Amino acid sequence: MRTTVGIIGAGPAGLLLARLLHRAGIDAVVLESRDRSYVEHRQRAGILEQGTVDVLRAAGAGERMDREGLRHDGIELRFDRTRHRVDFPARTGGRSVTVYAQTEVCKDLIALQLKEGGPLLFEAEALAVEGAGGERPRVRFRREGREDVLECDYVVGCDGFRGVARAAVPAAVARVSERTYPYAWLGILADVPPSHDELVYARHDRGFALLSMRSSSVSRLYLQVPAGTRAEEWTDDEIWSELDRRLETDDGWRLRRGPITQKSVTPMRSFVHEPMRHGRLFLAGDAAHIVPPTGAKGLNLAVGDVVTFARALIHERETGSPDLLDAYSATCLRRVWQAERFSYDMTTLLHPAPDATPFDAGIQRARLARIASSRAAQTDLAEAYTGFPLG
Ligand SMILES: Cc1cc2nc3c(=O)[nH]c(=O)nc-3n(C[C@H](O)[C@H](O)[C@H](O)COP(=O)(O)OP(=O)(O)OC[C@H]3O[C@@H](n4cnc5c(N)ncnc54)[C@H](O)[C@@H]3O)c2cc1C
Repeated sequence: MRTTVGIIGAGPAGLLLARLLHRAGIDAVVLESRDRSYVEHRQRAGILEQGTVDVLRAAGAGERMDREGLRHDGIELRFDRTRHRVDFPARTGGRSVTVYAQTEVCKDLIALQLKEGGPLLFEAEALAVEGAGGERPRVRFRREGREDVLECDYVVGCDGFRGVARAAVPAAVARVSERTYPYAWLGILADVPPSHDELVYARHDRGFALLSMRSSSVSRLYLQVPAGTRAEEWTDDEIWSELDRRLETDDGWRLRRGPITQKSVTPMRSFVHEPMRHGRLFLAGDAAHIVPPTGAKGLNLAVGDVVTFARALIHERETGSPDLLDAYSATCLRRVWQAERFSYDMTTLLHPAPDATPFDAGIQRARLARIASSRAAQTDLAEAYTGFPLG
């Protein structure tokens, strides 16, 4: 098999890249190890930055998002039983975010790819990227029990944190920066309308809580739990009671309860692999970097990477100049490190560490009070939350 761009992974990064290349008349093959249903139902991110929304629309993948997505003009910070809103358009000159689940983004992109795009092979597991440093990189993969080879001009590793592409960058040229956190998120999906119309980020001495949503009838809620916790350790009643405690306010606000349809634990990690390119292999999305979910940046970073790659390849096709491809890693990493910084700031702002001292708690409260009372601090948060410029 032969193609121009071999894409490993059909998460948001791989699917959007395939779409962007198809629109530009560049052929690509997508290899995805899991089946279609698994990819379409894997619960993950749900907040789309303004720039992500614009990219999906321009790629012709925004129709259902525009119909069903929920525009959010702010978030609420909760601490010491009080509520403080950060207004995004007022602080950013009109920017907002959209709540539209990653599952739905993937469904829309898969449907488009299968209808109009090039090959998207499910249950095709990449085994290794070979010859990344040369002119003809290859992806060795297994499908229906048989091994095959995809020969490419370029390979883009969109295969997530546990994929195989990153391993093709020689250790001698790679630098990994990493941080793990001593806590995780216990997340639930519940069939109940959200108890607030915007996301609520709550800091409590018992731990962080987040009230989020997937739609006007489905709530997504999270609790900070110790790292290593298993979802089965918490009963549904215990989860609702703990959410009540951490989200409680002095003004009579009430949390609505409903049937929990899914429970899972997400570890918290910051990770950056540099460079994001080796020869003709490019890394994009979680394959190259991970952020803790507190800043809602993971999916949006993945989008930024593939937009940068697609622009660079189109530029090379149109002008013959590899300048933008050569700049790919540095261009992406500028945005990646800003998102890492913001995600780290939000995480350490809102999560009491297990060994936190009264001093640490005092600093968290002071940082929150500063945001609640300062236009400048709110602007800083709102600019980062609604997204850093692409490219
Ligand atoms: C459990 C979990 C919860 C999350 N929750 C949030 C959240 O609430 N908010 C937020 O902003 N972000 C969240 N994230 C992060 C966000 O979902 C990711 O940043 C986003 O999915 C990145 O997209 P991607 O396409 O780079 O990678 P992925 O979505 O991981 O896609 C990679 C794809 O590659 C495939 N693949 C892997 N190995 C191979 C192989 N060898 N061959 C072929 N295919 C392969 C995988 O099956 C997968 O489909 C969460 C992540 C996880 C893991």
